Amino acid sequence: MLGFCKYIFVTGGVTSSLGKGIVSASLAKLLQARGYSVTIQKLDPYINIDPGTLNPYEHGEVYVTEDGAETDLDLGHYERFLNVATSQANNVTTGKIYETVIRKERNGEYGGKTVQVIPHITDEIKRRIKMLGEVGKYHVVITEIGGTVGDIESLPYIEAVRQLKYELGENNSIVIHLTLVPYLASAGELKTKPTQHSVKMLLESGVQPDILVCRTSHKLPQEVRAKIALFCNLKVSAVIESRDAKTIYDVPLLLKKEQLDVVVLEKLNLPFGTEPLLTEWKNFLNKLKNPTQEIKIGLVGKYVELQDAYKSIHEALIQAGAYHGCKVNILNIHSETLNTENIKQVLSELHGILVAPGFGHRGIEGKILAVQYARVHKIPFLGICLGMQMATIEFARNVMGFKEANSTEFDSHTPYPVIDKMESQKSVTQLGGTMRLGAYPCKIKPNTLAYELYQKELVFERHRHRYEFNNSFKENFEHSGMVFSGINPDSDLVEIIELPENPFFIGVQFHPEYKSTVENPHPLFMGFVRAVIEHKNKYCIT
Ligand code: GLN
Repeated sequence: MLGFCKYIFVTGGVTSSLGKGIVSASLAKLLQARGYSVTIQKLDPYINIDPGTLNPYEHGEVYVTEDGAETDLDLGHYERFLNVATSQANNVTTGKIYETVIRKERNGEYGGKTVQVIPHITDEIKRRIKMLGEVGKYHVVITEIGGTVGDIESLPYIEAVRQLKYELGENNSIVIHLTLVPYLASAGELKTKPTQHSVKMLLESGVQPDILVCRTSHKLPQEVRAKIALFCNLKVSAVIESRDAKTIYDVPLLLKKEQLDVVVLEKLNLPFGTEPLLTEWKNFLNKLKNPTQEIKIGLVGKYVELQDAYKSIHEALIQAGAYHGCKVNILNIHSETLNTENIKQVLSELHGILVAPGFGHRGIEGKILAVQYARVHKIPFLGICLGMQMATIEFARNVMGFKEANSTEFDSHTPYPVIDKMESQKSVTQLGGTMRLGAYPCKIKPNTLAYELYQKELVFERHRHRYEFNNSFKENFEHSGMVFSGINPDSDLVEIIELPENPFFIGVQFHPEYKSTVENPHPLFMGFVRAVIEHKNKYCIT
């Protein structure tokens, strides 16, 4: 049990997409590097209970935690930066808040009172924030409020912050407000007015920010900082510049230069401790920025127009690439556009192929063609979740001769249901939060590629699916040369498949990308990228 817990609230103004998640994760990294134990929480002002039922086009990737919560993709950044797992409690939505309050009301827990936004909804928001601090594991809880100040949906959250700031008392909590300082090319100037207005809006809600982080494309001159400070009741030292960066992994060091961590610790009355220990981070960054070679990996998926849909896969590839001193160029390939005529032309320039997770029928035949191309041409292949399922279907159809093999997700009458709904899923009717979610054990078979990569007999990996490999076909597959190298020891579900005939062909039912962090890149991605480099150097001219 730690002796204290301080709270940092991060709000956003002017516009969305300013990078509150990255700023929060970067500050957390700096505090962690000074010896503090930190966690980050995201409050999302939408009414869905979680993003699990949201279309990826709406919300990007759904990030799954160890304990099986379907959460906002910012939690992925938190884990990648901090190398510490998050949980259910780290992502709260308006849906969750209202669900709890309404359940309590139905149970008569409000003793006949009228249930209102203030105090009942705000009390529940405060309870969820303090809950993380009360675990006794963290010196600092950073709570990021989703949305932009002024949004109707954000109001109860800002009100909860106002109340908490007062209740927690001076030096126990601060508010960091992230704004935009745009550069007007026609005037040749940085403009402070949007920031002034955004702070005014916060003040109208009774919240005075303690620190302003100003996102900008240009250097913030001293006079601009002074002007912002004057209009926003702040010292100049509390106006922090956050310049556009080449990579998100630069942001902790840029904010350190601006002394954000020092200002935060001063305001929270916490000792600075030693200089932040960021050796590993800097080594990673150095490798990331100075690659000695390049590879091209095709990411075959159906949401590729939206980069955020496969955020964790992108980052896991970049991390593994950096460790191998290699720049990974990710080519997005829309599975729906692949057909027998164009497949060679589209895929022949690649050094490695990754078939992405997904749901629903759209684009699956293209994914199967991509798997076939990788298998036949012995191109390093990694299939994730649906990608692994497609690899088994392709194998059944083209190697075993089960021409109509399919997943019952796409063809409920297939004579060869090599992928079928899990028994536990057959009675499930509700959509939200009902998949096989979170970490499950996987036993690795010795003398396999999986074992070579993990160097371990038991691993825990995170899941998000309803369908599984149908074990009644296992012997047929093994007979034809597929190896089942990872099995869940409790349920016997297939977790990893591989083809030893190929130098690197592996499919996983789980999502390794969720567990890849800067300081701990995932062994499957490390192995995949290594195999892709070897393949390129051996067989490809470019
Ligand atoms: N649609 C497949 C299933 O539910 C795969 C899911 C995924 O790729 N995450 O099993």
